[in-house]
Amino acid sequence: MLKGLKGLFMFFVIMTFVVGCSNDEDTSEVTTEDGLTITTSFSVLADMIENVVGERGSVEYIVPIGEEPHEYEPVPSNFARVSDSDVFYINGLGLEEWLEKIVSNVSDTPIVELSEGVEEIPLVGEDEPDPHGWLSPKNGEMYVENLLNDLIERDPDGEEIYRENAEAYLADLSELDSWITEQIDSIPEEHKVIIVSENAFKYFGKDYGFQTEGIWEINSHEEGTSQQINRIIDLVSDSGIPAVFVESTVDQRYMEMVAENSGVEIAGEVFTDAIGEEGSGAETYIDMIRHNVEVFVDGLASN
Ligand SMILES: [Zn+2]
Repeated sequence: MLKGLKGLFMFFVIMTFVVGCSNDEDTSEVTTEDGLTITTSFSVLADMIENVVGERGSVEYIVPIGEEPHEYEPVPSNFARVSDSDVFYINGLGLEEWLEKIVSNVSDTPIVELSEGVEEIPLVGEDEPDPHGWLSPKNGEMYVENLLNDLIERDPDGEEIYRENAEAYLADLSELDSWITEQIDSIPEEHKVIIVSENAFKYFGKDYGFQTEGIWEINSHEEGTSQQINRIIDLVSDSGIPAVFVESTVDQRYMEMVAENSGVEIAGEVFTDAIGEEGSGAETYIDMIRHNVEVFVDGLASN
């Protein structure tokens, strides 16, 4: 049905074009619509893409802010949007577990993984990679490089704009990286442990020297069993780590149980699977990473 309508639409576009040309002999240049219609899977990637695409093209994402992008139930408007897009940018690394549903409903939109080339870290005890590559801005730079290359290939006329935007954005990410290194210097080595509900900071931890732990490994396998909670309570109690953290996209009650039973504070909320809502101070990828680092420093540098 959708395909039929699209075909009909294309017919009218072509007819309009043909009629338009025959009516106006002076028009030697055909004005095509500038830029690309882009869809991506979740808000973090959308912000990165908007930074590189700028005014040239439209960017929308599938998973609403506040929801986690692992398990999502695509709705008909999502299929239509992806179908009407020039490209669908995803994270890859197994993040979009609902991708199959999109693929089976939308056959001809190219799907491009922005995490291409990221050195995979496996989920603890599993063969699958952890998908949260973007949480380290060093990987974020790689995402932007992949994006830039794909945009240029897809829309060569926009190359200059894309390159200019990407260069400026990569400079910001590089600055962010240096800033993180400076900030975390105030955290004593023995406190460099990030404990959240979902063990999502592996890539960040590897790049900046933190051990990472979660009540559970990944949200799509979320259990929050008493055994999982007790393991973290013991770990916190034994290690003398001064703080634990909660995520904006996760039910906080599990971590509250950990905090109550281990006698440490929840030092703050971090952003992992989505950027923040308006007014959160984490409305962009760069701001969410900054916010996370400030919360980590605040919780782990003291005591
Ligand atoms: Zn996640």
